[in-house]
Order: sequence, then structure tokens, then C-alpha cells
Amino acid sequence: MIDFDTIIIGGGPSGMMATIASCFYGKKTLLLEKNKRLGKKLAGTGGGRCNVTNNGTLEDLLEGIPGNGRFLYSVFSQFDNHDIIAFFEDNGCPLKVEDHGRMFPVTDKSRTIIDCLSHKITELGGQIKTQTEVVSVKKEGETFLVKTSEHTYTSRQVVVTTGGKTYPSTGSTGFGHDIARHFKLHVTDLEPAESPLLTDFPHKRLQGISLDEVTLSYGKHQITHDLLFTHFGLSGPAALRLSTFVSGGETLLLDFLPTISKEELLALLEQEREKAVKNILKMLLPERVAEFLASDFPEKGKQLSQKEKEELVKKIKSLPILITGKMSLAKSFVTKGGVDLKEINPKTLESKKIPGLYFAGEVMDINAHTGGFNITAALCTGWVAGSQILYG
Ligand SMILES: Cc1cc2nc3c(=O)[nH]c(=O)nc-3n(C[C@H](O)[C@H](O)[C@H](O)COP(=O)(O)OP(=O)(O)OC[C@H]3O[C@@H](n4cnc5c(N)ncnc54)[C@H](O)[C@@H]3O)c2cc1C
Repeated sequence: MIDFDTIIIGGGPSGMMATIASCFYGKKTLLLEKNKRLGKKLAGTGGGRCNVTNNGTLEDLLEGIPGNGRFLYSVFSQFDNHDIIAFFEDNGCPLKVEDHGRMFPVTDKSRTIIDCLSHKITELGGQIKTQTEVVSVKKEGETFLVKTSEHTYTSRQVVVTTGGKTYPSTGSTGFGHDIARHFKLHVTDLEPAESPLLTDFPHKRLQGISLDEVTLSYGKHQITHDLLFTHFGLSGPAALRLSTFVSGGETLLLDFLPTISKEELLALLEQEREKAVKNILKMLLPERVAEFLASDFPEKGKQLSQKEKEELVKKIKSLPILITGKMSLAKSFVTKGGVDLKEINPKTLESKKIPGLYFAGEVMDINAHTGGFNITAALCTGWVAGSQILYG
């Protein structure tokens, strides 16, 4: 006697959505999560507000998923970001849009999203077991044996949604890669992606400041987005996106005011020359940034020589910052690499070699930018993997 039609391993966004889809299609479903609560990593996204999706077009989604986004064409044709938005709206958890298409619950609380997903599982008759760590998965004949420390559950289908390997304290420790390897499936090399950057920048002076829409560039790579100065260097979407192209030893250029030209800045310095340099810059930038930029220059605008004006504008428009390294995999936001997509059917997310074994979310070799793209990929792949009807 088999216990369940489908067992889902891992209660992050992909696992919760896989469980919902599985129940929706009438399958007897069990979700196993080792933490006390579901969605621990999800809870910390968007600064604790849960950046649940992005409202862009299909092209925007593919652009936001630089790590094998094109593998998701078929998935998105079955369930996409607009289905995510409709899902939360229909289930009493409306979303709102912010900059760059990022979407959050109107409550600004991650818990609303996690509660909405877990209530839906219960409403559809799915079973959830938290504080239950899966220690091994085997297949005997047509039956999967999913072993936890206390019990062995059996099922006809297993969906692996254990996530990547970043922030292991949230539960994502790479166990799904071990399951794949056990079944002799290839796992590509795991690397950090969306990594905060370590710099030799005098960050103490700017620590904690967050700037909207600055441009960070390295060679031909230019990213205009928000930037956060931290105690170790740079974070925020601009730094995280640029992290793909650097490893340490490179010098980035930071443009604090990308929408204002050099000529316009020189004209402003001339026009406001009676004011203190710091106060002129305060018209355009936060006070601490203005103070940092104005340091090393004469106090008053009218005291600046032409050469000094040009040097100041250069400091504003192309400040060099030496990158000394990147955060490790554990402290990066996303894992690049995972279960090799060549092993997975893109329409169903079933293993090509092991019938009944499915993968969804970050455990696969898919990585995206922050901004809701990873979570969109997790929720949509979760839905597709969970919705596959049992064969035979
Ligand atoms: C600080 C931070 C901020 C982020 N911000 C954003 C953002 O703004 N936008 C965005 O799109 N993405 C963001 N991400 C990435 C995003 O959170 C992940 O890509 C997403 O959560 C992946 O979902 P998942 O369901 O595949 O895996 P996870 O969310 O990692 O969930 C996997 C679950 O599996 C469980 N599990 C693992 N092993 C076992 C086992 N053996 N037995 C039982 N359960 C197990 C884990 O406990 C965990 O709950 C952020 C990540 C971090 C760390």
C-alpha cells in the first residue's frame, strides 16, 4: 500500500506551489520541510516584505533570469508571473507593484504570502509535516521510499524542491543535489551568484546609505539600479547584478548621478557658486554622500578652480572602486549551478532517467537576478512539477 501519490521535499516557494498544484489535480500529497516553519528564505526576501514576483513581460522575465532562463519557455507557457499575481489576488492576498516591476503583498509582510500558500495547501487537503528532515530517497520498482529520521513514506512521485546552497541557516543546504547524485544525475558546478562585493572603498563613511538608480560599470557591463553601501563594501541590485562579471581585483566605476551630464553638473557648480560645495551637492544627493564627495575640495563653490570643478565632477560621475573579492556561496543570494537541465524534461520537469522524479526551483541549474525573478521561477516550476498527473 503506497502512502501518497506525491511527496514534495522542501517547503520553500517552489515546494509550497508544487504541493498546491498536486492537491489541485486531486493527488494525495505530502509536503516535508525540515524547519519549524515553511518559507524561511522567502520570508527574508525584499527586506522582509517578500518580493514575491515581478510584473514584467516574458522578455523581461527571460532577461531577469540570466542563468538558463530560456529553459523555462515551456514552464512559463503553462504558469507565469501573471498567474502568480492572479493566484494571490484570488486567495485574498493582493499584491502591489514597486520600482523595476517588483511585486510585494500590500501588507508589506512576508508572513501574508507564506500563510496564503500554506492555507491553500490545507484547504485543498494537502498534508504538511514541518520539523521533518528527509535523509534519503530511494526507488524500488515504481515506488519511491522517502526516509526521514522517524519514518519512511512511500509515493509514486517525488518532487525535489530543496533549493540551492546559499544562506544554509534557512535550510537550503544542497540536499537535493545529493538526491540527484544518488540517482546518478549530473549536477553542474555550484557557484555564488548575486553576491555582495567586497571593496577597499572607505565604506565606513557611507555605510548604511542606499541610493536609487546609480550606474555601476565594469568594462562593457553597465548596470543602473539601486545600490547599498555596507560595512564590507557594496550590495543592492546594482552590485549583485555586476557580481556575475567580477571576481576580485577589478576596478568598477560608480556614477552617482547617471541622469545628469558632466556639462550640467559643471553649469550647476557655476550657477550655485556662492554656496558651500557640500550644500550644492546636497541638492542632488543624500547629505553623507555630499559630504564624502565634497571632502578634499575647497569649502565654497566660488573657491573651486576649473581643474577642481572637473575633478569633482569626475568623482561624482566615475568614482573608481577597487573590488577585493565577493561574498562566498553561503553568503550570496543565489546559487548558480544545480541539477543539470539536460537531465530534466522542460515541459514536465520530470527526470529523463528516473520516471516519477521531478525537480523545481533553485535546486535546478537556473539562477536569476533578485527583484522577484528567482521566486517567480521557483513558483512557476513548482506549479508545473506538481501538476503532472500520474501515469499508468
Ligand atoms: C537574503 C536573500 C534575499 C533574496 N531576495 C530575493 C529577491 O528579492 N527576489 C528573488 O527573486 N529572489 C531572492 N532571493 C532568492 C530566493 O529567495 C530563492 O531563489 C528562492 O527562495 C528559492 O526557492 P526554492 O523553493 O527553490 O528554495 P528555498 O526557498 O531555498 O527552499 C528550500 C526548502 O527546502 C528545505 N529543505 C532542504 N533540505 C531538506 C530536507 N532534507 N528535508 C526537508 N526539507 C528540506 C529547506 O529547509 C527550505 O525551506 C533571495 C535570497 C536570499 C538569501
